Amino acid sequence: MIIQKEMLGNLFTELSTAKEKGKKVVYTFVPGNLTELILALDMLPVYPEINALQAGMRKKSGSYIKDAEKVGFSEDVCTYVKCDIGMMLNGNIGPTGEKLPDPDLLLLCYTGCFTFMKWFENLEHLYPGVEIAMLHTPYQEDGIITDDQIQYMVRQLREEVIPKMERVAGKKLDYDRLSQMLGNAARSEDFWVKVLESAKNVPSPIDAYFAGVYYMGPLNTAFRGTDLALQYYRELYREVEERRLQGLLPINPEGEMKEEKYRLVVEGPPNWTNFREFWKIFYDMGAVIVASTYTKVGGLYDRGFRHDSAHPLESLSRYCMGCYTNLNLPQRVDLIEHYIKEYKADGFLINSIKSCNSFSAGQLLMMREVEQRCGVPVGFIESDLVDPRYFSYANIKNRLESYFQMLEQRRMIMSQEGLA
Ligand code: SF4
Repeated sequence: MIIQKEMLGNLFTELSTAKEKGKKVVYTFVPGNLTELILALDMLPVYPEINALQAGMRKKSGSYIKDAEKVGFSEDVCTYVKCDIGMMLNGNIGPTGEKLPDPDLLLLCYTGCFTFMKWFENLEHLYPGVEIAMLHTPYQEDGIITDDQIQYMVRQLREEVIPKMERVAGKKLDYDRLSQMLGNAARSEDFWVKVLESAKNVPSPIDAYFAGVYYMGPLNTAFRGTDLALQYYRELYREVEERRLQGLLPINPEGEMKEEKYRLVVEGPPNWTNFREFWKIFYDMGAVIVASTYTKVGGLYDRGFRHDSAHPLESLSRYCMGCYTNLNLPQRVDLIEHYIKEYKADGFLINSIKSCNSFSAGQLLMMREVEQRCGVPVGFIESDLVDPRYFSYANIKNRLESYFQMLEQRRMIMSQEGLA
């Protein structure tokens, strides 16, 4: 936590002085991000979703969203978008209180969510004259990545995206540097997977959702491929492994959990405006999230993918196509089934996000399918990413309490039948 805080603090300070130092700034998104390419060209990335979720945690998103609605954004638009637009309308002050620089390039790596495209269309109006580069990522309609698709993406990178990035950066891409960063990325990804898989242990030493969203930060944002990120993940793994060997349970904001009563798999992003209250409902009940789909939004490393220094553009292409938001529904169900079985989960819970179609589409179907295949109790709650109007504490707590009762009853029945 200390290392990551320092990394982020330094990044935002660097961003606040980027223009005076002549550094170019690229706005881009987390799923399918091309961080190593940006950094290898000495540019600085900004991730609007991260700013939005940080604004949510700092209780600023509500007023930003209202400001965006006042200028015409409808209630149904993804609240990350409205929060981001509202933040810009209010001076674009970042999470550390420093002003974020305007973008020199909008780099859109379109992975599965159509909203990304509309989001940047809006930013284009807010920053007239800004350069735009788009990498079109084919959707995994048939659940496989074909050679044709990889070639299609590599061609875009080589012929359109990289030349445009080089023009904005004012320099040529150093492919050796890119490869070296991708090698670093792969080593960080190895550590990250070991951290995620530590939750297979009973009891789990980590909460793979509420703490997982912090752990995934450096890999999903401005640091993938850097020595700093590698150091961070090496240290994180060392700490988690030490906890596992000592049989310690996850840490939460109030200290260390004393009992692991339920092991859950969660689908969907968390709510950010009431993140602590939301988390508390779980740890108060002794529930640990042992795997989540949201922590795979920036890449499915635990299913084997690694960035590859020997094939830089091919591996960046595979990376974009393999992000969770680019998977089709059967792939998502298979993944959840795998998590429930591999991580010995007692139940499956969906946090359905009102404004995120990319996650929410098909969730009821997924729930029924998972219930049939795994025979575990499934639960469904609803909230939103950063709109505080859609987080009803009492409602969510009630539903979760009923869900935990259901888990308890099942456990009793199983133990009576000698199955547990
Ligand atoms: S709809 Fe969901 S995936 Fe798409 S931009 Fe909004 S939060 Fe991200």
